[in-house]
Amino acid sequence: MDNLLEVHRLQTVFRSDRGDVTAVDEVSFKIQLGETIGIVGESGCGKSVTSLSIMSLLGKEGRIQQGEIWFNGTNLAELSETELRLLRGKEIAMIFQEPMTSLNPVFTIGNQLIETIRLHMKLNRKDAKSYAIEMLTKVGISRPEAILKEYPHTLSGGMRQRVMIAIALACKPKLLIADEPTTALDVTVQAQILSLMKLLREESGASIMLITHDLGIVAEMADKVIVMYAGQIVEEADVYSLFEEPLHPYTKGLLQSIPGTGDDNNDRLFGIPGTVPSIQRMPQGCRFHTRCEYATEQCVHEQPQLKTISPNHHVKCWLY
Ligand code: SF4
Repeated sequence: MDNLLEVHRLQTVFRSDRGDVTAVDEVSFKIQLGETIGIVGESGCGKSVTSLSIMSLLGKEGRIQQGEIWFNGTNLAELSETELRLLRGKEIAMIFQEPMTSLNPVFTIGNQLIETIRLHMKLNRKDAKSYAIEMLTKVGISRPEAILKEYPHTLSGGMRQRVMIAIALACKPKLLIADEPTTALDVTVQAQILSLMKLLREESGASIMLITHDLGIVAEMADKVIVMYAGQIVEEADVYSLFEEPLHPYTKGLLQSIPGTGDDNNDRLFGIPGTVPSIQRMPQGCRFHTRCEYATEQCVHEQPQLKTISPNHHVKCWLY
């Protein structure tokens, strides 16, 4: 199968008062056409910075220090800001946990949706409006014409997320990056949004990069899973292997901490004591050793490499 996205040894750093800090360190992975990949880990593990690096949305303080990102055969580092802007929205779309961060509060939903469609699909205003109504209907909005005239703050969180999905998918992107797309929503709306993403994936054949701390969502949606800890990939496997036979102690802890009620929206993990180390003070050796019950002297001093256990299963741990 062809790779749509290839990330090679990505290292992303941010400027801070105390010098550069590395938020993503030597991260490599591939997403094939039509594949859904789940990226999981606690807050601060580097999963969102990975997606912002792909989108070239790191802000003034962040930069890609090392590595390459190839999208559909193009090295993203070689694109101008204008080319990148066209790529975002048209070829790569993104939805966030809180749609208000991407919806402009001073413009109506219609204005934002229709303008996006006009920019990327080269349609006239009338056709763009019809297409906007069609997209809103598709994401389950029952009064699309009325919603076009509304401002974002008048809609519920679930409605705003539906609008964001409509905007993201209107231009038929090849890759949808969804960063905690359902975290702020209640369980019923969460299920509706996930069904919607599945339906649209089936219809358009898009690849999805799903960033979440919720392994339940990953089990439902993903073909492949990447587990990140402290800026690095610690385990990568197809979804069945990861759930049937998790190898890394951190992954095992994550699986034990799946809340039974399904309504826990925070990043606290009950199976793993301690917290993710600060990116300003990464421990030597295996970065998980401060929380790992199997840690040895070797773990404290030497960093393990990602090791291939089977063709679809890789782990970064001295136990293997
Ligand atoms: Fe635990 Fe050592 Fe494996 Fe790190 S390398 S996860 S400390 S056993």
